[in-house]
This record gives sequence, C-alpha cells and structure tokens, in this order.
Amino acid sequence: MITYDLHVHTTASDGLFTPSQVIEKAVRAGLKGIAITDHDTVDGIAEAIGCAAQYPGFVVVPGIELNTNQDQQSVHVLGYGMDFTSYRFVEKLGQMRQWREERAQAIVQKLKCLGYSIEYDEVQHQAQGAIGRPHIARVLAKKNLVPSANWAFGHLLTRGKPAYVPRHPFTPIDATNLIHEFHGIAVLAHPGLIHHQNLVTDLLDRHPACFEGIEVYYPAHAPYQVEKYRAMAETRGLLMTGGSDFHGEGTSEHAPNIGFRGINDELYSVFQKEINI
Ligand SMILES: [Zn+2]
Ligand SMILES: [Zn+2]
Repeated sequence: MITYDLHVHTTASDGLFTPSQVIEKAVRAGLKGIAITDHDTVDGIAEAIGCAAQYPGFVVVPGIELNTNQDQQSVHVLGYGMDFTSYRFVEKLGQMRQWREERAQAIVQKLKCLGYSIEYDEVQHQAQGAIGRPHIARVLAKKNLVPSANWAFGHLLTRGKPAYVPRHPFTPIDATNLIHEFHGIAVLAHPGLIHHQNLVTDLLDRHPACFEGIEVYYPAHAPYQVEKYRAMAETRGLLMTGGSDFHGEGTSEHAPNIGFRGINDELYSVFQKEINI
C-alpha cells in the first residue's frame, strides 16, 4: 500500500496547486507524507510544512528536482533532506534559474529573427515557474504560429534546428554534488525516461558514491521497468524511492492523482534513516 509520495510539484515551479493545497490533497488521499520536489527551487517547502502542522504525524520531506544533461540526454536528479533554509543553497538555485531564463530569452530572440512574433513575457506567463522550451512551444501553438507544440519542438527547438540554444552545462554529477554539499541524498529520477539505458548503469556504476537511490516506482514505468530498477537498486544497495510526479489533476495522462505512485511504510522507514529531517 502506497503511504508516501516522494515526487510532487507545486506552484513554486510548474504545478497547478499551492503547497497548502497539495498537502490538503495528500491528507485527503490518505497518505502519511509527501516530498515537495519542485524544479530548481525550495520555495514551496516552508508553506507545505506550515500547512502540514495541522495534521499531526503527516510528514513533509524537503526535496528538489534538478534537470541535468549528459551525453546530449536529459537526466533528472531528485534531492531529499537538504538544508533548504541555507542562504547559500537558495542562492545557487537562483543562479540555475537565471541560466534557464537567459536561455529562454535567447530562444525567443532567435524565434523573433525567424519571424515568429512571440514575447518573453508571454512565455513567462505560460511557465509560472521554472521556464523552459515546453512553455515556448505552447505559446507558439496557442498563437497559431505553428501547427502544434510538438511541431515547434521537432522543427524549431531541438538540437540542430534554427531556434535551438544550448543549455548552460550542468551534469547529473554536478547535481549530486550540489545536493550532497547541502547534506541531502541524491536519487536518480524516473530512469525509464532516459533515452539510452546504458547511461543509467553508467551513472550508477561509474560514480558509485553519487547516487543514494533510484526512483523505482513512477507512473510511466511499466511493470518490467519497475522490476529492472528494483533489481538495480538491490544489487547496488541503493534506496528505492517512488512518486507520482504530480503536477495537478489532468496535467499528465500518467499521474492522475497525488499518491498514484509512491512507496510503502517499509521502504519509507529505510529511506527516512538516510535523510536528516
Ligand atoms: Zn522529472
Ligand atoms: Zn518531477
């Protein structure tokens, strides 16, 4: 039985619900705790903890999700239990958000030169948080400047296409180092979404001290993938985590509800021993 959902987004990044609303939903769903894992920010955590105080025993794990790149592939890294009130940590995250914004601005600039009339403000409005290419694609589609958001990605925004701008380099190992520096543990997020699966084993084996866990239970993981990542975690002595990647009902075909995926009491008790909350 799922009792903890360790992957939840709020309005602090690209979720639809405020941290308080998310806590209310989690309590109503019968969960014993959740981790708030917004993209590149810990801004939602204090509010979530404040709201949870009215539900004795309900646990809020401070978390984060960092987007990284390695070998031209996107790898997400989850961090849990960092000193989220540390000024230096917050400052470093601010720097990463700035890189994101600068990149989005550069893309908008290229699009304008190509004759697509969109403004950075519109993209910002669409994003409400961690800004990225999906938001730009959505604005283009909404304004009927392209046939669809997918089309914008395929024809304009991906590597090799005219409005592509490379990211500021930030690798999975940079992310795990950052999480460790602020006393958190690092978990490889939804490995099933990584394009080339040899990168998963590469990351776990070439850098054995970098990841403490694998996100085994995830909405888009098929049963065979759950088995595969469970075995990977077991043979390496890594934590098994899981969560719904909840952004709000209806935002993803995979994760309709908070608590749709997660871990049980037994796995949580192992996880809890590794984090300092
Ligand atoms: Zn992710
Ligand atoms: Zn996520």
